[in-house]
Amino acid sequence: MQAHSRNFRKSGLTIAFVPTMGFLHEGHLSLMRLGRSLADCLVVSIFVNPTQFGPGEDFESYPRNTEQDRKKVKKEGADILFLPDAAELYPEGFETFVRLDNLPNKLCGLSRPQHFQGVTTIVAKLFNLVQPNVAIFGKKDYQQWIIIRRMVRDLNMDIEVVGGPIVREPDGLAMSSRNSYLEKDQRSKALCLYHALSAGSKAVTAGERNSDTIKQEVIRSISAHEGVNIEYVVLCDPETLENVNQINRPVLMALAVKVGKTRLIDNMLLTPP
Ligand code: AMP
Repeated sequence: MQAHSRNFRKSGLTIAFVPTMGFLHEGHLSLMRLGRSLADCLVVSIFVNPTQFGPGEDFESYPRNTEQDRKKVKKEGADILFLPDAAELYPEGFETFVRLDNLPNKLCGLSRPQHFQGVTTIVAKLFNLVQPNVAIFGKKDYQQWIIIRRMVRDLNMDIEVVGGPIVREPDGLAMSSRNSYLEKDQRSKALCLYHALSAGSKAVTAGERNSDTIKQEVIRSISAHEGVNIEYVVLCDPETLENVNQINRPVLMALAVKVGKTRLIDNMLLTPP
């Protein structure tokens, strides 16, 4: 991978990079198209990274379909599909990790204490292998996007980090490889995330400024569904992820909800008119 990137760069070509865990959907493909428009070469990686899964999480059962993914990546005109091997990325004696002090101690990091250290470590490694000029991440995983941007700034990595908008199913459900876990009745219950975010957004447009009022309403509407459990509902600053009480500027509303055993996340920027 490094040799390929060196050659691209020697020829004066810029590289866009889209890291993924595969089982590709339109959300991933939209990032590839964005990448294509921002650089000469497009590199896509697929790697289900073991170090970002906690004990009891779905590393083993995470959906995989490399053959189908290969076709999709080819269709998007990627120059390289990088499929690294876990044993090669984490050889015996591996002991170096990248960890942020504060941003991971919020939102998803509270229930997944090792997750973001796994993410920043693998992304730093992939950046060193792919040597991109620009890397594209989805705002679906909003906290991840903010954390990667922080890491790149803090470690002076010469990479532009771009965030792509959330791609949704026609009914509003944010696309996710994990949606494949949902049974039919769970799939319709999963819409409660999008409905809650939309209701929050509407309330702010209509003049509501109190975060707690919106939170309580969201908790009430989501809890009405059987088998659906809220992990968090947070209204926070879109840069620092610190809680916000009064909505007098754009505020990020972020949700993590378990539908059955499937953990889903979604978010929306609430902007007072
Ligand atoms: P994953 O394969 O889930 O690790 O995701 C790989 C990249 O695709 C990450 O940057 C995600 O944020 C992004 N992504 C996943 N789902 C979506 C979506 N529905 N819309 C936009 N980006 C997404």
